[in-house]
Amino acid sequence: MTNNYDAIIIGAGITGAAIALELSQKGLKTLNVEKLSDSGMGSTGNTCAIIRTHYSTLEGTALAYDGYFYWKNWEDYVGNHDEKGLALFHDIGMLVIKPKEFDFNKYLDLHDALEIPYEKWDLEKLKRRMPHFVDDSFYPPKRPEDPTFTDPPTDKINPTVVFFPRGGYVNDATLSVHNIQRAAEAAGAQFLFNAEVVDIRKQGDRVAGVTLKDGKMLDAPVVVNAAGPHSFVINRMAGIEGSMKIKTRSLRHEVHFVPSPAEFSYEKEGSIVSDGDAGGYHRPEAGNLILVGSEDPACDELEWVDDPDDFDGDVSIDQWNAQVYRIAKRIPSLAIPNQPRGVVDLYDVTDDWIPIYDKSDLGGFYLAIGTSGNQYKNGPVIGQLLSEIIMACENGHNHDNSPVQVKLRNIDYTLNTGIFSRNREIIEGSTFSVLG
Ligand SMILES: Cc1cc2nc3c(=O)[nH]c(=O)nc-3n(C[C@H](O)[C@H](O)[C@H](O)COP(=O)(O)OP(=O)(O)OC[C@H]3O[C@@H](n4cnc5c(N)ncnc54)[C@H](O)[C@@H]3O)c2cc1C
Repeated sequence: MTNNYDAIIIGAGITGAAIALELSQKGLKTLNVEKLSDSGMGSTGNTCAIIRTHYSTLEGTALAYDGYFYWKNWEDYVGNHDEKGLALFHDIGMLVIKPKEFDFNKYLDLHDALEIPYEKWDLEKLKRRMPHFVDDSFYPPKRPEDPTFTDPPTDKINPTVVFFPRGGYVNDATLSVHNIQRAAEAAGAQFLFNAEVVDIRKQGDRVAGVTLKDGKMLDAPVVVNAAGPHSFVINRMAGIEGSMKIKTRSLRHEVHFVPSPAEFSYEKEGSIVSDGDAGGYHRPEAGNLILVGSEDPACDELEWVDDPDDFDGDVSIDQWNAQVYRIAKRIPSLAIPNQPRGVVDLYDVTDDWIPIYDKSDLGGFYLAIGTSGNQYKNGPVIGQLLSEIIMACENGHNHDNSPVQVKLRNIDYTLNTGIFSRNREIIEGSTFSVLG
């Protein structure tokens, strides 16, 4: 192994691996430096891996729709290089339930603009397709400790429920990253594990390389921060955090597992459900389980983490009760186990919950960060965006003045990457939640 590369990528999650694949396919000699023992073991390893298209901006929607086709045609993207086999995409669609006052046109206009299909269901069709659901409204979501939590509902959900067929979930997120790693290696990329970056070295106004915990120095004219929830730590090392208008922080999040209700098999008939009325989402999970997450309703205090290497990795009984009891309102027959079961990990959240895919004020140092709990699905597209931004900037393009335009591969859309700038104004149309 030499110490000189064309590009060093910090992190081997979905983001770092996808960037390695694209850059190595463009002929660059890349090295991913990962402090864990394998790829996809960071926050990607605990993702719910939900693929969906409803986002609050046109660009976010386009990214997700383009991303959907990578998952649908996974082998076309990663080839067949992985001795572990390929990750599997369950192409089952996503149902979105909202409270009465919600204006669905926010999403539907964006879907129309991009010609993404959707189906409007009335509550009768909802009852036919999801017979285990009640159509009462529980909005605004509450915590179980709220004395009004069990008050009888007085209203119904939005009379329109929307099914977005271009969605689903991936069965094994860690394996999906490994698939990309093997594809990147086939194109010449290298990966270094158990190697922690502790310093970003500079020469003049440019990045010169990274220093590892064991003292080893690796050199490259391009370094990419794809460190997930550690992104702000790496930005501080590079001395650029203060020069960015939009910052990133780590946020602790839990997801829980409960059995499918007896009368409805999620494994056989289920879709993904985003239930903004009840404040959570759920999807089928192997073993005829349901995986239950939260959509960050206002009643839940956000758990910011100062040190991403030191957070409580155990499921908390309070959050288990909140998430599981809320979904039990929608599914009254849900059997709730006595023993909480779930996973805990960190989101890498920006000030407006929209990611940063950009250059930085340090020459050669690039950012693929702030994925805000919702960018696993976009990993392959992020690889394309970053590789095109990097190639353009390294060839002298002024990306800050004239953001790189990227022609997406799977849909007829050219993306203005300026929306993902580190120096944008806060995007007020964002949901300021995991929904993006
Ligand atoms: C509970 C949960 C549920 C989610 N559900 C969904 C979902 O359903 N759909 C969706 O689209 N998204 C979802 N997300 C978000 C999604 O998982 C992330 O956007 C995505 O996985 C981020 O990938 P990444 O590669 O940027 O980060 P990571 O996977 O965290 O990779 C970063 C890597 O950098 C390494 N690293 C950090 N610091 C250093 C250092 N100093 N030196 C070397 N290596 C370092 C880390 O070890 C890590 O492996 C969810 C996230 C969580 C936590």
